[in-house]
Amino acid sequence: MDAEAIIIGAGPAGATVALNLAPFRKVLLVDPAPAPEQRIGESIPGAARRLLADMGLLDQFLADSHTPRHALRSAWGDPTPVVRDSIADPDGHGWQIDRRLFEDRLRAAARARGASAVTARAIAVRRESEGFAVTLDRPKGVDVRARLIIDASGRRSRLGTATRTRRGKLSCAWLRASGVTLPAGVVQIEAEAEGWWYCSALPAGEGLLAFHTDSDLPAAKTAATPRALLRRARALPMLGALLGDAAWNAPETGYCAAHSAWPESPVREGWIATGDAALACDPLSAQGLFNALYFGLSAAEAANRWLDGEASALDDYARDVASVRSHFLRAESAWYALERRWADAPFWKRRHTV
Ligand SMILES: Cc1cc2nc3c(=O)[nH]c(=O)nc-3n(C[C@H](O)[C@H](O)[C@H](O)COP(=O)(O)OP(=O)(O)OC[C@H]3O[C@@H](n4cnc5c(N)ncnc54)[C@H](O)[C@@H]3O)c2cc1C
Repeated sequence: MDAEAIIIGAGPAGATVALNLAPFRKVLLVDPAPAPEQRIGESIPGAARRLLADMGLLDQFLADSHTPRHALRSAWGDPTPVVRDSIADPDGHGWQIDRRLFEDRLRAAARARGASAVTARAIAVRRESEGFAVTLDRPKGVDVRARLIIDASGRRSRLGTATRTRRGKLSCAWLRASGVTLPAGVVQIEAEAEGWWYCSALPAGEGLLAFHTDSDLPAAKTAATPRALLRRARALPMLGALLGDAAWNAPETGYCAAHSAWPESPVREGWIATGDAALACDPLSAQGLFNALYFGLSAAEAANRWLDGEASALDDYARDVASVRSHFLRAESAWYALERRWADAPFWKRRHTV
């Protein structure tokens, strides 16, 4: 055996499993990217403070250049913006994080605690008498072996869980740039007829603008270029006034899937799915990174117990994930139900009939 556990994917969830499991087990972390890439998703709630403290990561996190997020300002269900201040939150303010730095710290902690890392994509997994063989794409066709597989390969996870339930067709077109003056510490959310918007200042003087709509609706096409995206945003009652004619210099853009999705079960014998591979949430919840930390920690505990011979450890983990999922799905439906201004528009009609 090359390891006791192979973790497929070194995103926030995989790195979190690795840093919590490596002190106790021989762990191999596999990811095709040698270092974290810049990705969308940077809003993290105050409750993450407790998880970071439990994992011994809070001091470093607070010393890094993440910026506090003190409030959410939203025009949702009504054109008049409402501000929800984190002063009322028992966990305190959240953060707009430097995502690449955040992931880099998690990977570094995993390595420092003894995890081995391989730069490769896992292209196949097969059962063997004592565990699993994982085939890597580099060196081409090489196999690595372990008793336990932890699938942290994200929302597009395909390696172990053939059937994934998918809720809707939500997609996201985003734009990140400098030369934008946005209020620091406040995330802006605004609903419109064909979807909803997210806008925020980022660390290092950048700004992010993201439009969420269903991939099969006409709006998904009209928002396909930075110019069209900005034009559409500037026509909005709340964001339009905020964005003004800000430059949005040197924009970096992206388009990605954003629907909620989950496998029938996050576990099977010798197998654990974690992070988005266990439950990918609609980004309206801003819950994905918190879940990656929480599920990552919980999966590491379950893995350690299972490797010790405790057969029930995986079922306990599955119950934990199921409970988070049912809470999330209720909250997701309740949030969308609050917006009734365009009840006949396909985007909202679909969400009101879930
Ligand atoms: C539009 C959008 C906005 C979002 N905004 C927020 C936000 O503001 N706040 C928030 O908390 N969450 C947000 N999220 C969600 C958040 O980004 C995810 O929940 C989080 O990234 C999940 O982490 P993960 O480690 O499970 O998966 P990922 O971050 O997807 O990491 C998966 C890793 O697996 C690797 N991998 C994939 N396949 C293989 C393979 N075959 N072999 C080896 N490695 C592989 C990838 O390279 C990657 O490093 C957003 C998501 C979207 C889509």
